[in-house]
Amino acid sequence: MTFRFDNSWLRDLPGTFLRLPPDPAPAPEVLAWNAPLAQMLGLGPEVQANAARWFSGADLPPGADSAALAYAGHQFGGFSPQLGDGRAHLLGEHLDPAGNRWDIQLKGSGRTPFSRGGDGKAAVGPMLREFLISEAMAALGVPTTRALAVVATGAPVWRDGQALPGAVLARVAASHIRVGSFQFLAARGDEAGLRALTRYTIARHYPDLAPDGALGLFDVVIARQARLIAQWMGLGFIHGVMNTDNMALSGETIDYGPCAFMEGYAPGTVFSSIDRQGRYAYANQPLILGWNLARLAECLVPQFDADEETAVAIANARLKSIAPRFRDEWLAVMRAKLALQGADAGDEALVDDLLGAMAGQGADWTLTFRRLADAAEGREAGLTVLFPDPARLLAWLPRAANPAVIPRNHLVEEALAAAVSGDLQPFEALLAEIRRPFAPEAGRERFTLPAPSGFGPYVTFCGT
Ligand code: AMP
Ligand code: MG
Repeated sequence: MTFRFDNSWLRDLPGTFLRLPPDPAPAPEVLAWNAPLAQMLGLGPEVQANAARWFSGADLPPGADSAALAYAGHQFGGFSPQLGDGRAHLLGEHLDPAGNRWDIQLKGSGRTPFSRGGDGKAAVGPMLREFLISEAMAALGVPTTRALAVVATGAPVWRDGQALPGAVLARVAASHIRVGSFQFLAARGDEAGLRALTRYTIARHYPDLAPDGALGLFDVVIARQARLIAQWMGLGFIHGVMNTDNMALSGETIDYGPCAFMEGYAPGTVFSSIDRQGRYAYANQPLILGWNLARLAECLVPQFDADEETAVAIANARLKSIAPRFRDEWLAVMRAKLALQGADAGDEALVDDLLGAMAGQGADWTLTFRRLADAAEGREAGLTVLFPDPARLLAWLPRAANPAVIPRNHLVEEALAAAVSGDLQPFEALLAEIRRPFAPEAGRERFTLPAPSGFGPYVTFCGT
């Protein structure tokens, strides 16, 4: 089966996109193909056979109707009323055999009227990086956009005076509805557009809600996002650029730029080269969640109640609920990691004690929990040192909540460097391991260990 496109965004949301084709790549070549995802989407061999042309802009799959979407956003706290897809083209919404709707989007596919100063392009390394890390997140059970393919364009991309090989990523998302999509309409005072986008979002993601129930939508987005960020925290994942244009109403993780997994536990960890204030540091992510949702509330508030004062009171009550809501989700994640049975009043103190000890030693986040899980599995002594009440630990559960393998920064860099110089083997080997994160360590210890001390501090980049 090939794509079955139905482009509801272009039909239902006039004024929020520009129809235009991607740039054709001169010599497209498939570097990575996501066979399990293709299968899930009901895409047969004809799609893979056409991947180089269809996912590089050389040609469009039948039924595609290419467009760049408009959105706004707060970037590092400062508002831009117009951002939009500056290097991305939505090809359309594919309906899979189960009837689910998926955005198929190209990233790195050329300039658009939203490009501002940018070149509209992307390099091989960062696109393979997005493929790898989003695939890790999917395997770890985190809602996420995924990559169907990475296609080298055959054209260079200039970064810091250097020519790098260019690439396009074919991204699959439940949708690309962002907090910034609402902000775009709000900034223009387009109340009818906001109501249309609210209805569209509900119909697409939360069809059980009342069709124009903005408050119901806000509640479910709070719930999804609180759970999502709790999952990130449990994995030591740092998104790195939690701007409002990078927060999806579907509850999926979106926009893999400067993200990375923390190794040694330090709450203030930041990887992004431009995040000098630590706005998007590991421990700040729950606060930014609340901040971003407050920006969404500002867009929706006129829909909460006809009376302005009442509407604002409703919004404020909801915003106050976010921190305790997140805390509950986070405790649920931590209880699962530690296999704490039921909910005990002492759990939070126990978790805080453990994290305090880990921070004091800079203990590797992933490895510490995995070793606890391994110890629990072997019923080893020593657990009582960390847990005064080991009877509450279920002896065999925690491995399933504590991965052995995450995409460690040194391994990711090694795989990408090899890929850029033409050797895809390390990328494929790492991909195979991150796709079974909870499986036993035996025989793949190399993928479970922290970076060697010589690796040094890790720095990541946006818009690469
Ligand atoms: P991001 O940091 O990836 O969320 O991107 C923020 C904004 O910058 C979005 O509007 C992107 O489309 C745009 N952007 C990022 N990189 C480029 C690029 N190389 N060319 C044009 N626009 C870009
Ligand atoms: Mg973005």
